[in-house]
Amino acid sequence: MATLEIRELSVGYGPVRALRDVSVDVPPGAITAVLGGNGAGKTTLLRAVSRTLGFHRGTGTGTIRFDGRSLDGLGPAQVVAAGVIQVPEGRQVFARMTVADNLRAGALGARGGRKETAAGLDRVHELFPVLAERAHQRAGLLSGGEQQMLAMGRALMAGPRLLLLDEPSLGLAPLMAARIAETIQEINATGTSVMLVEQNAAIALRLASTAYVLDVGEVALEGPADELAASDEVRRRYLGVVDETAAEDATQAVAGPSRSLSRWSA
Ligand code: ATP
Repeated sequence: MATLEIRELSVGYGPVRALRDVSVDVPPGAITAVLGGNGAGKTTLLRAVSRTLGFHRGTGTGTIRFDGRSLDGLGPAQVVAAGVIQVPEGRQVFARMTVADNLRAGALGARGGRKETAAGLDRVHELFPVLAERAHQRAGLLSGGEQQMLAMGRALMAGPRLLLLDEPSLGLAPLMAARIAETIQEINATGTSVMLVEQNAAIALRLASTAYVLDVGEVALEGPADELAASDEVRRRYLGVVDETAAEDATQAVAGPSRSLSRWSA
């Protein structure tokens, strides 16, 4: 049985159609990626799962089941209590609070008691030693990458069974993005399923076993991540791999037929 099953999900914000008939599976223990450009509907998909569409005046139809149980009728806090935790886009940490208090806040609303909170904190510090070193600093003073670590650490404090990550590599330098990617792998290796929403297809396809490509609110492509990474369309549109023939055609069109590259080089 799939851990998360989204079926025929359609979402609108008033007159704006953001998602249409989207079906996505996140199998137990897997990393599933959802790719797509700006406005494709990636964040909306996560909001539907975390039951936070209402905060954004969004409404939807379709079904979402987590471990066989429908999420219909549940509020955001009940979804968190069920173990589905979202790390929102843009590293939303509590800037004036210390790193330690941010992490403590993550444990609020989770099922565990003191012992689980202490164990969770140990695990977060193991994954992100910098959060232990900076425990008493204000979160707003951390670098962008460190804030992303804190946002993920805070989510881990809630003991997620399914982690929803919204563009964790956004705006990070390549080295930091690679570190975050490594950590996502480590988190997943300890049994947490991950739904990873990314514009950075190179990172997402490397981490995920299955991927979906959203295009203007619909699933345009889906399949094993390695097959998608090898497909011409994904390489051209999302991995920035230039199709040489198309590039040559475009250059010739600009130069005009009488100024083809071969004539210039002749
Ligand atoms: P990005 O990568 O830019 O964050 P995205 O793939 O996450 O994009 P969404 O944020 O889900 O896309 O947006 C999907 C569509 O819904 C877009 O057309 C967007 O303008 C619209 N939209 C999102 N949130 C709202 C809202 N609160 N009110 C109205 N329209 C919205």
